[in-house]
Amino acid sequence: MAKRDRTGSVKTVGTTKTARSGKVRRSGSPAPGRAAPWLLTSLLAGAGAVAATGIGLATRGLLPALGGKPVPSDLLRSPQFHEGVFRNVSAARPLPPGSAGGAAREFLFGGQPRRPKGPVPLVPPRGPAPADGVHVTWFGHASSLVELDGKRVLIDPVWSDRVSPSRVVGPKRLHPVPHRLDDVPDVDAIIISHDHYDHLDLPTVLELTRARQAPFVVPLGVGAHLRKWRVPDSRIVELDWGDSTTIGELTITATPAQHFSGRAFQRNNTLWASWVVAAPRHRVFYSGDTGYFGGFATIGEQFGPFDATLIQIGAYAPGWPDIHMTPEEGVATHLDVRGGVLVPVHWATFNLAPHAWGEPVERAWKEAKAHDVKLAVPRPGERIDVAAPAQVDGWWKALG
Ligand SMILES: [Zn+2]
Repeated sequence: MAKRDRTGSVKTVGTTKTARSGKVRRSGSPAPGRAAPWLLTSLLAGAGAVAATGIGLATRGLLPALGGKPVPSDLLRSPQFHEGVFRNVSAARPLPPGSAGGAAREFLFGGQPRRPKGPVPLVPPRGPAPADGVHVTWFGHASSLVELDGKRVLIDPVWSDRVSPSRVVGPKRLHPVPHRLDDVPDVDAIIISHDHYDHLDLPTVLELTRARQAPFVVPLGVGAHLRKWRVPDSRIVELDWGDSTTIGELTITATPAQHFSGRAFQRNNTLWASWVVAAPRHRVFYSGDTGYFGGFATIGEQFGPFDATLIQIGAYAPGWPDIHMTPEEGVATHLDVRGGVLVPVHWATFNLAPHAWGEPVERAWKEAKAHDVKLAVPRPGERIDVAAPAQVDGWWKALG
């Protein structure tokens, strides 16, 4: 099947072998609009804070942030799209039945120290990386810049103070953004893994649309949000799982993840994904937000090995085991996809789950050591040379 690449350059198209390999079972994900997914998104993205408070202030600027609504007929080509919603390969439960109340209580009143005890050390910009090799700059949470073979990909850029449709309520940054968006060098592509607020940020998208030319490479359906925000159609590339787009010498492939989506009251009408970024000599894998599932071994077989992986390790909870990984599962994913250096992401910047602030990286470090995995833990703003990553020094320990 051919796919249009509105950047004018190449296109590819894969099959969804990863999703249909038979190694994983297809069944359903929760129906849209159920209370449990709404609660979970609320916890994860702060939207619930808006709904719960209902204060007039919160509504200011809220409607545009909710984004657009995909046209279902545009999504029917996806094997993942059934009865109006996208589904995971296996049955993922955002919250097991009956656990919503407990999860909310734990999130709101759990005793874990959710904030760093002092200022998080930030590393200022150093300019573009050398054109050879692989370099990863982590800005906090999932926002990262991957530079490989002279190509650059900006991942899930979130420069706002809050991950919420509101500017006044919702999870707020625990450390400043380490670099100005202007300081990020020119990029060849901007990947958005899915449409939750901590990955798709309206003000950041508006600024990138104004100041840059790079295409936004997004899962199927997420283009509706971008179109609503006046991103030119020519800069939107929407991919199903298994689809690729080629931008110059860079090939970006959307691969399966186990998660869910939604920015308002509609659940799962846009797709979520993990990502393979391949340049002529190097490859990087980004997990997006996901539960641990059998699809990663298939991705490793098809696309691995990878020089580096960026893997979600934070925002897990016993109450939602299927849609975010624990640090141990993150390390297992790194091994499944055949990764070289593991760069843990999705921690440190926002308080989204009932665990201590530094726990994700502490557990990831322990698990990496147990499995002889090469780990790099940058400070926000720090750039890693994947060929020679600095030794992990436990910089976060002093902060809890
Ligand atoms: Zn997230």
